[in-house]
Amino acid sequence: MSNRRFTALKEALSHRPEASKEFPSKVSEYFGVNVFDDRAMREYLPDDVYRSITENIEKSEKIDKRIADQVASAMRAWSISKGATHYTHWFLPLNGATAEKHDAFFSPSSDNRSVEQFNGGNLVQQEPDASSLPSGGLRNTFEARGYSAWDPSSPAFIMDKTLCIPTIFVAYTGEALDFKTPLLKTLSLIDHEATEVCQLFDRSITKVTATLGWEQEYFLVDEALYSARPDLTMTGRTLLGHAPAKGQQLEDHYFGAIAPRVMEFMREFEYEAWKLGIPAKTRHNEVAPNQFELAPVYEEANIAIDHNQLVMVVMEKVARKHKFRILFHEKPFAGVNGSGKHNNWSLATNTGKNLFSPGHTPKTNLLFLTFFVNFIKAVHTHADLLRAVIASAGNDHRLGANEAPPAIISVFIGSQLTKVLDEIEKKVKDRKMTPEEKTELKLNIGKIPQIILDNTDRNRTSPMAFTGNKFEFRAVGSAANCGPAMIALNASIANQLKEFRAELEKAMENGEEKDEAIFKLLRTYITQSRPILFEGNGYSDEWVEEAQKRGLSNLKNTPEALQAYLSEKTKKLFIENNIFSEKELEARWEIRHENYVKVIQIESRVLGDLAGNHIIPTAIRYQKLLVDNVKGLKEILSEEQFTQQADLQIYIIGKISEHISAIRKYVKEMIEKRKEANAIEEIHTRSSFYCNDVKPYLDDIRYHVDKLEILIDDEMWTLPKYREMLFIK
Ligand code: ADP
Ligand code: MG
Repeated sequence: MSNRRFTALKEALSHRPEASKEFPSKVSEYFGVNVFDDRAMREYLPDDVYRSITENIEKSEKIDKRIADQVASAMRAWSISKGATHYTHWFLPLNGATAEKHDAFFSPSSDNRSVEQFNGGNLVQQEPDASSLPSGGLRNTFEARGYSAWDPSSPAFIMDKTLCIPTIFVAYTGEALDFKTPLLKTLSLIDHEATEVCQLFDRSITKVTATLGWEQEYFLVDEALYSARPDLTMTGRTLLGHAPAKGQQLEDHYFGAIAPRVMEFMREFEYEAWKLGIPAKTRHNEVAPNQFELAPVYEEANIAIDHNQLVMVVMEKVARKHKFRILFHEKPFAGVNGSGKHNNWSLATNTGKNLFSPGHTPKTNLLFLTFFVNFIKAVHTHADLLRAVIASAGNDHRLGANEAPPAIISVFIGSQLTKVLDEIEKKVKDRKMTPEEKTELKLNIGKIPQIILDNTDRNRTSPMAFTGNKFEFRAVGSAANCGPAMIALNASIANQLKEFRAELEKAMENGEEKDEAIFKLLRTYITQSRPILFEGNGYSDEWVEEAQKRGLSNLKNTPEALQAYLSEKTKKLFIENNIFSEKELEARWEIRHENYVKVIQIESRVLGDLAGNHIIPTAIRYQKLLVDNVKGLKEILSEEQFTQQADLQIYIIGKISEHISAIRKYVKEMIEKRKEANAIEEIHTRSSFYCNDVKPYLDDIRYHVDKLEILIDDEMWTLPKYREMLFIK
């Protein structure tokens, strides 16, 4: 019998690796050719304009109309020389995707001869009608306009013969409708606050930049098999599927040789990424079968986020060329590891220093310690916010599921630095310290061999780990925009640095000497933040208990976690620092609850449909076959022979009936619950209801479907199985 699964399997088997394409091996020769970068600006702009614009960007100043016009005309000439016909403002709306609306460069003129046009006005601002993008109630339908405005700090690039100009996106009334607007605000906030603190140590530090190096995990599935799985196509994850006999238990995929078909895909998207100036660096197989990772060299956080969003688009396109579909979902397959997007975060100074890199002199050590301890304090203070920003329906499958960081936020710093903090706590005296005592404390870090700092005892179970010269926020979901995580980190650390400076000034006004006052403050912070420091196994049950004793939150699901968006602490943080207004914060909270509701609603509908039109009909067909067989046996066999020989068939017939009734019952109940949920007006109550009363049915139904999958004749099963989707050869 032929069914759609076998057709798909046959097609998948015919997908051979693409013939190896020749890409120029010297990447430096074409890296960034599709980016209007410094090199392109130098070539296409008059010297004085080039100088003004680079200075404007460097100092985050407003760009005047004359300069914008000249930059626009240079961009136009440059992009047309590269074959571009259109331009678009490229922005990152709150649906987590990228948005573009293309306009052609050419404009018809009155004498019927068209000319190529693109001026400063087109570059600087547009008014896309954005009524179909999420706004969390910020935009009335009668005023659907939004503005997109040029972000000169992220270079324009060409994709698909279109000049893409990175922009921010705000409502007509001025509220931010994207991830970039608040991000840029936090970047300038952290620049300001961190620079002020650096000035206490080193007058030559005048600018501080947040850096981000993300690591993107993803799965690949053959296109034919993907298309035969409505759950994958509609929800990005499998809602059913029995675990294969072999999964990741042999640990034979991680860092293994990359399959030829996958390798061709990687080579091509890396080539495309390099042309776009994305510094893709590392590629390897991940833990689960068919799971892979890409990591670039870190960049300034705003550019890094644009690059992450862009690379996801590029990977998706290239995957299709290779007859793959890429899955960025946090948990596409139950029972095998899910995907994350580690966010490596640090601060770099204009003097080329990494503020989270311990130095070799006592002075730089104290600078390091100051940032290090303030970071820990900030995470302790805003742990719930950091938990909230990474919450999503997809990430709920991962966090706390013993393969990813727990839902409890804690910080891992390694044994060496733990010792350093212990010493400070112990040795800093309330009395005036002697110069020798202070020097000894400062020297402690210098005594840690560099090699140990570089290879900190890596704890893979911590959501926030210090890894030698940066903090790694590991709990971010693979499908997420890094924006919210970076906004929360930047803002909470900047705010902490501000408080530190205020307290320090007060102490110094009271006559305390600077170093001594710093040590005392750091000691207080260490004592206060102790509960957030955890070096043990984050996956263990003991940690859940211990964390509770320490008063740390364990917010297990998205609807619960999101409430931190509206806490007094969060409001104070964002509103006082001019990152979000209360209205904007509420909008973001609402959008995320809504997104949660929609995801669970869609998953529940898809599973209901699949159970009804794929699973139950197949089960009935197979059951009929068994019934016919039993009837036939009854006709030809003696009573005694029949009892012996029809035993298994009769047992399976019964089992199938049991599973069918259970599925029917649960699907019916689930639909009722959905109806109840949809009648709830208040969004948090609705999302909690979806979480607690609708979502459990997904597991209940799946349990019975997966049992049927192993009972029913393989020839009849219509949906590609895990073992078929998970092993690309
Ligand atoms: P691992 O898998 O052990 O975490 P990777 O090499 O995969 O290590 O990833 C390390 C990541 O950290 C890379 O994305 C890299 O760019 C990033 N990184 C290194 N230094 C910094 C820094 N100073 N700031 C931000 N990110 C950094
Ligand atoms: Mg990592």
